[in-house]
Amino acid sequence: MALTSVSELQTLIHEHITRTPRLPEIEHIPVAQSIGRVLAEDMVSALNIPATDISAMDGYALPSDAAAGSCWQIVGESAAGKPFAGDLPKDGCIRIMTGAVVPPGSTCVVLQENTKTEGNAIILTQDVAVGANIRYGGEEVATGDTVLTAGRILRPADVMLLAAIGIGQVPVYRKIKVAVLSTGDELNEPGTPATDNGQVYDSNRHTLMARLAAMPVEVLDLGQAADDLESVLHTLNEASCMADVVITSGGVSVGDYDYMREAVNRLGAIHHYKVAIKPGKPFVFGQMLKTWYFGLPGNPVSGYVGFDLFLKAALWQLCGAQDIPQPFRLQAVLSQQVKKSPGRMDIQRAVLTQTADGTWEASPAGEQDSHRVWGVSRANGYIILPAEAGNLPAGATVTVQPFTEAFL
Ligand code: AMP
Ligand code: MG
Repeated sequence: MALTSVSELQTLIHEHITRTPRLPEIEHIPVAQSIGRVLAEDMVSALNIPATDISAMDGYALPSDAAAGSCWQIVGESAAGKPFAGDLPKDGCIRIMTGAVVPPGSTCVVLQENTKTEGNAIILTQDVAVGANIRYGGEEVATGDTVLTAGRILRPADVMLLAAIGIGQVPVYRKIKVAVLSTGDELNEPGTPATDNGQVYDSNRHTLMARLAAMPVEVLDLGQAADDLESVLHTLNEASCMADVVITSGGVSVGDYDYMREAVNRLGAIHHYKVAIKPGKPFVFGQMLKTWYFGLPGNPVSGYVGFDLFLKAALWQLCGAQDIPQPFRLQAVLSQQVKKSPGRMDIQRAVLTQTADGTWEASPAGEQDSHRVWGVSRANGYIILPAEAGNLPAGATVTVQPFTEAFL
């Protein structure tokens, strides 16, 4: 049987979740804490931005355009938050500060730097045109504009926008509950002494928890399960009562002690098992009653890549996001040859550098086996080689996906 392609599996997961629409509940949180949360309601502005016509600069408000050399009496002042009370006479001007209301009767603001003062009057040193340095009421946002729609993953600029329209508490979806479990008799917990029975430190669970912490997710740490069907069943059963999503690592291959698929099948159903990707061919997707299940392979790099290619989008969808962020990809030139056999999409860990002429270069970050955790840390992106590709020479153009966190 042909393996599922990467895009087929992405679609399959997306469609399964779409067929079970279940949005998290809504809560209200302070706008400054809303970055990375998913907006739960459309946001409609109840005001204009700017609220009224205001000055863009410090200077003088004039009733008409004016030529260099013309002289204007100063008849009052408009400061930010303290408007000039009254109308501007035809032959006068108003001292005005940035952000101050442009008084009725004004048509332009001349910059302070383009004037000389003489007693209580100014003389223009440059011409000024109608409209100069005025920000018109409602020119950016008008009352009734829907500035953001539900499902938006909020960004720093959205905080600026929401606060600017006067929103103090933002309606967002509650964090979804994601349980994380490692399986394997060989696992040792970081922070405890090393043993000499072929133990490995459980890096997968901690990596997953760390990556989930950057999402609107409440992490439930289920610790480690032994390679034993009964204990896996017990833990998964409890997890499915508590969590919206369960993510496990290990135990999804065909080894004698790989019990995860059997356990999930007993508690629910498996929708998918193997995908044409390297690293990480086994990627289990299923559900146990209302809880979604994702089973990552134990090899750390396979799980890391699987998270990026399949889990991130699925989790955002479950968090209520409407426009699931697309991975940032660009073209780069290989600085050395890469080895690949056709059949599976290959996600190689790479160092990406931009050359003086703006071209991006990619070189694999060492050997590409799926236990090479240091290589992922040295890398700052992936080289994405399509399933059908074979060996590629130095100089070939490839698609790369930078790790955005490596490019601050
Ligand atoms: P498995 O998928 O259970 O067959 O495991 C594949 C490989 O990944 C084995 O070498 C395991 O020791 C290793 N492995 C499994 N789970 C973890 C984990 N949580 N952290 C680090 N390595 C792991
Ligand atoms: Mg195992």
